[in-house]
Amino acid sequence: MDFAYPPEAEAFRTSLRSWLEANLEARFCNLDEGTAGSPERLALLREWNAKIADAGYAAIHWPVEYGGQDASLIEQIVLAEEIHRAGAPPTVNPIGIANIAPAIMTHGSDAQKQRFLKRMLRGDDIWSQGFSEPGAGSDLASLSTRAIDEGDHWLINGQKVWNTFGAHADWCELLVRTTRSESKHAGITCVLLDMRLPGVEARPTTTITGETEFAEIFLRDVRVPKAALLGEVDQGWAVAITTLTSERAGVATLHLDVNKRIRELIDDVRKMEGTIDAGRREKLARLHLQGQLLERLSARALSGILHGRMGPEGSLMKLVWSEVGQSLGDVAAEVLGAQALGGRWAKAKLSSRSYSIAGGTTQVNKNIVAQRVLGLPRGT
Ligand SMILES: Cc1cc2nc3c(=O)[nH]c(=O)nc-3n(C[C@H](O)[C@H](O)[C@H](O)COP(=O)(O)OP(=O)(O)OC[C@H]3O[C@@H](n4cnc5c(N)ncnc54)[C@H](O)[C@@H]3O)c2cc1C
Repeated sequence: MDFAYPPEAEAFRTSLRSWLEANLEARFCNLDEGTAGSPERLALLREWNAKIADAGYAAIHWPVEYGGQDASLIEQIVLAEEIHRAGAPPTVNPIGIANIAPAIMTHGSDAQKQRFLKRMLRGDDIWSQGFSEPGAGSDLASLSTRAIDEGDHWLINGQKVWNTFGAHADWCELLVRTTRSESKHAGITCVLLDMRLPGVEARPTTTITGETEFAEIFLRDVRVPKAALLGEVDQGWAVAITTLTSERAGVATLHLDVNKRIRELIDDVRKMEGTIDAGRREKLARLHLQGQLLERLSARALSGILHGRMGPEGSLMKLVWSEVGQSLGDVAAEVLGAQALGGRWAKAKLSSRSYSIAGGTTQVNKNIVAQRVLGLPRGT
């Protein structure tokens, strides 16, 4: 789909493209997908991340004082397009840069901004988000990890689950309960947890793809200094909302990766010997159309934001993205047959199971779309 981007965005594209051509060495490309992986892969990701951050391209929408370029939303989209086109690796710190940094910029003290943001941008410190618990996922406000005020520090006990990057993160944005009150949204506090503190145990969780992308975090009598507080005591829900809203804003570029993989699947099918039957051709065509739909939804959301309208498109896109991602794995398996039992297509199928859970489940997103897009009444 061709959009006429403003001339300054195209000028930005040209300079970025030349920088990528000069700096993106082959050893940084085609690293296996996945987030944790081997120490060697992590070291390469960190090296690339520092390089792109030092050139000012790691988070161009960030303010200049923290290492960004104060860039426009369109330039941000151009950056994502060019990174995909060049096959450059993703940032080593996606949760930190996209979700946690906006929370620190909004709710943090000057000392916290100075201490954390630039190191986060370079990938010197890797961050994770410690929100979910065994009894608090969609209903996040039910969280029960307890923090007790002990004068100069908090004493924290509890457990977190599904902590992406938890096994190798240096810091964690942690939600804890400081006060029990009638409203479960009140009494939550956010702290910036140093993962090296005594009493913090990150236990890797092996997923269906065989990777240890997640960790369970066990907190036993962890003494967290008061300076680690982000925002106000008992007002952590506001920090959580800033973090989660920033996470949803990231869906505007999700179509880039999924459409790239659809094109790769079509290329792989073209290389197969023989022909595929009409039924499977139709499934491929439908998948291609779903990818195009997602791209148009992104364009619609982008246009809304540029015209000052923040709608619920984020939930709609997340819904469609997870459906397309899951169809991709299923169609690849069906069309490629035994070839899809190993390698990237097997991984695509297995990892896509999580798409309808991560960042808000399909059912919860359907509730949001039903109420805020279709105007339907809340369920009982
Ligand atoms: C890939 C991935 C990465 C993740 N990364 C992180 C991370 O870094 N940090 C973190 O804190 N968490 C993370 N999570 C956890 C994620 O936020 C939770 O899994 C998610 O919020 C759902 O919570 P739950 O697993 O407890 O399921 P539950 O909330 O218990 O849901 C169980 C089922 O009930 C349905 N359901 C729940 N409420 C409703 C409702 N009101 N209406 C209709 N149906 C409902 C759900 O849709 C689901 O089908 C990650 C999860 C995944 C899969």
